[in-house]
Amino acid sequence: MQNTIIQCGSFRVTLIRKAIKNLYLRVLPPDGRIQVSAPLGAKNDEVCRLVLDKQDWILTQQKRVATQWPQAQRAYQTGEIFYLWGSPLRLEVQIADGRPSVTRQDGVVVLRAPRGADTEKRRRMIDQWYRLELKSTMPIVLAYCETVTGLRCAEWHIKNMKTRWGTCNPAKRRIWINLQLAQKPQECLVYVVMHELVHFLESGHGPRFKGFMDQFYPAWRAVRKLLNGTQPSA
Ligand SMILES: [Zn+2]
Repeated sequence: MQNTIIQCGSFRVTLIRKAIKNLYLRVLPPDGRIQVSAPLGAKNDEVCRLVLDKQDWILTQQKRVATQWPQAQRAYQTGEIFYLWGSPLRLEVQIADGRPSVTRQDGVVVLRAPRGADTEKRRRMIDQWYRLELKSTMPIVLAYCETVTGLRCAEWHIKNMKTRWGTCNPAKRRIWINLQLAQKPQECLVYVVMHELVHFLESGHGPRFKGFMDQFYPAWRAVRKLLNGTQPSA
């Protein structure tokens, strides 16, 4: 049995040759890596043709694996899928001297790290990248929400929270948003900011609260559903 890595377009594929008759394609947890089992005599071209024919299926499976296996179980290795504003990006880890960086190019997020950067260090780099994305997007979203509601937020902060998407202190007009919101479609951030601002008017989640939400953000129920399909609740 031989085990090799081949590149098919933008996909990295683990190819295992065995005494079998057909090609088998699988997308494996926890990182969504692609594995093909192939007959001993199968050509690489044949394997790539299969992978490229099935790319839509592969992306769907990787999305499913990524939502089933939360970040905690990630190894931050090449091939894992990370979401930015709802779009899947494939992580590519490059070991390089010089300044560590995280950059986005098309469907790929490139993490450049020094040799010896362990999982924890890579996790911090990705979190920092999410934080910067949120920091640059939040002023636009907040300005929109403030205009719609006529409310003012004095201070906002980003926090990595396990159980909630946002929280607030209405007396001090402060709101906190979850770092993980950078992974979700942007309307989720609009929903959370709107939700926290409405708490400046109403502390509970009863009919009065819902009335304000209907008035300021009619789509809120659908967006909340989208947001709570996975991970914490709001
Ligand atoms: Zn609330």
